[in-house]
Amino acid sequence: MDRWKREIAIAALWIAVALVLGSIMGYRAEWLLAVTVVLLTRQSLAINELEQRLRHGIFRDYRSRRGIWGDIYWHLWKIKKSEKKRKKRFSKMIEQFRSSTDALPDAAVVLAEDGEIEWINRAAHEVLGLKKSDKGQRIPNLIRTPQFVDYLKSHDYQHKICIPSPVNDSVILQISIVPYGVGLRLLLAQDVTQIKNMERMRTDFVANVSHELRTPLTVLKGYLETLQDMDNVPLGLARSFDNMTAQTNRMQNLIDDLLLLAKLETKAKKADCVDMLSLLEQICHESDLLEKDERRIELTLHTDCNIIGDRQELQSAFSNLVENALKYSSPESHINVGWLKTADGGVCFEVEDFGEGIPAHEIPRITERFYRADSKRHQKIQGTGLGLAIVKHVLMRHDARLDIQSQLGKGSRLRCLFPAKRIC
Ligand code: ADP
Repeated sequence: MDRWKREIAIAALWIAVALVLGSIMGYRAEWLLAVTVVLLTRQSLAINELEQRLRHGIFRDYRSRRGIWGDIYWHLWKIKKSEKKRKKRFSKMIEQFRSSTDALPDAAVVLAEDGEIEWINRAAHEVLGLKKSDKGQRIPNLIRTPQFVDYLKSHDYQHKICIPSPVNDSVILQISIVPYGVGLRLLLAQDVTQIKNMERMRTDFVANVSHELRTPLTVLKGYLETLQDMDNVPLGLARSFDNMTAQTNRMQNLIDDLLLLAKLETKAKKADCVDMLSLLEQICHESDLLEKDERRIELTLHTDCNIIGDRQELQSAFSNLVENALKYSSPESHINVGWLKTADGGVCFEVEDFGEGIPAHEIPRITERFYRADSKRHQKIQGTGLGLAIVKHVLMRHDARLDIQSQLGKGSRLRCLFPAKRIC
């Protein structure tokens, strides 16, 4: 029989005995009351014992109790045993996690909602100078670099930032933040000094070489001009001079573009309010002048928004796009240049041409340095392969991005998309 049925049977038996005794000896109600009080007292004592055992977690001696209460203690003892096992497993996992994060060369810090430090690994001490005793303190009070404080406050963690280490100025740290859980953030700091130094060496090398090549090239160009101006130059030689001039011009363009890219990588950013109307009119006018007879560019201004940034850099980027549109489409076709608002509140500069377009598989690669789309038609068109790399870099410095849409045989539309925060 089930324990609980037995329990009910015992209670029923007690009541039956009370009824029998009440019938024989009289006072049936009193007998019934007495039995009910006994039964209730018994259950109250058992509940009291359960409360005591729950409070102290003692269920091991479940055998000392019989009946339904013995069963309850046995179940509770089983739950407690599995809970204990789970706890042990968890502490082992936490211990393993702690030792693995302590072995990490990168600093890891768990931050609560208001930036209070909840947990740090060992590297956080070496790299960021944080101590275990800093737990509970707000991190902006300990790492005060303005760029870091702004990054933390911005809650926009799509990109990473680089700051000097608070412990050692010569160490450059790359900081990234990953939000997780409810209001928690994991801050990671990686030492990128070596990578940054290598990048700087590469930029310096390219800039120095380009700069040093400028003078001999100018001398060569000078001599070539003198030779071309000479009278009675044999026809074969004149053709060679023309080829040499074309090649030196090409080299000059390459050097100019390389120097511009190096400047974009090192120069401090400007934040002027650039008058877009005059800039766009200037770009279209100057680009149109490059064309022999026809005026091909149609400029449409849908908005009078201006942009916070560097006028010279924006001019280089936009001119590159307009010149590409002119270069890579037939001399009779039109080019549409537009300045308009976007659906997300930002603003966009777009250049549309009706040339041969760019093959879909080449689109992701054409912004790479020196990449030129493999087209027989393009072989005769002069270029350095650096134009769109410059555009991409300039846009990056203005929190903007380049969107390329193209259909083979129909044309291309290249758009520079600026976020609303850049409008002035
Ligand atoms: P380039 O000096 O060769 O023009 P860019 O970086 O400006 O260098 O462009 C890279 C390549 O992208 C070009 O070689 C060309 O093949 C392709 N390209 C760029 N703009 C256009 C365009 N409007 N139409 C077709 N192809 C284009």
